[in-house]
Amino acid sequence: MKAAKNTVVSFHYTLTESGWTENGLVESRADDAPPLDSSRERGEPMLALLGHQQLVAGVERALEGREAGERFEIDVSPADAYGERRDGMIQRVPKKYFHNGDRLKPGMQTVLRTREGGQRLVTVHKVGMSAIDVDHNHPLAGKTLHFDIEVTAVRAATPEEISHGHAHPDGGHH
Ligand code: ZN
Repeated sequence: MKAAKNTVVSFHYTLTESGWTENGLVESRADDAPPLDSSRERGEPMLALLGHQQLVAGVERALEGREAGERFEIDVSPADAYGERRDGMIQRVPKKYFHNGDRLKPGMQTVLRTREGGQRLVTVHKVGMSAIDVDHNHPLAGKTLHFDIEVTAVRAATPEEISHGHAHPDGGHH
């Protein structure tokens, strides 16, 4: 079965920052760089329902038409991944809004609770006496990403998965 909209694709991936620069020249091969993320290290393949914005656009497009057993590598530009970095995304937040405020250092990522009850992944920009400046850009914004992907399974989505807009392990309930 080929991966397409409303199929569920299981795949392993290793994500590194691409060594390719915007003008197409090799800056440094990322082969020996530690992965930013890897399903192989977790041991469980990623599961995704195609056609429902579960994956970044570049990966979704690259998976289309693939079958179980195929392995390939792709470079994904920021526009097809997490977007460009934006200015004006730094926000000063009182320390009491962080559960680990005294241990944070610039460059670390932490989760901030929002007024609406949600959670946001932010990067610590600067730590002050009583407040912390956080950067709301996605940590991978502005980066060209390199994915090493191996498709392990493709199956038709269940009607329930399609109505929920995401894949369920083994097609069952949550
Ligand atoms: Zn569901």
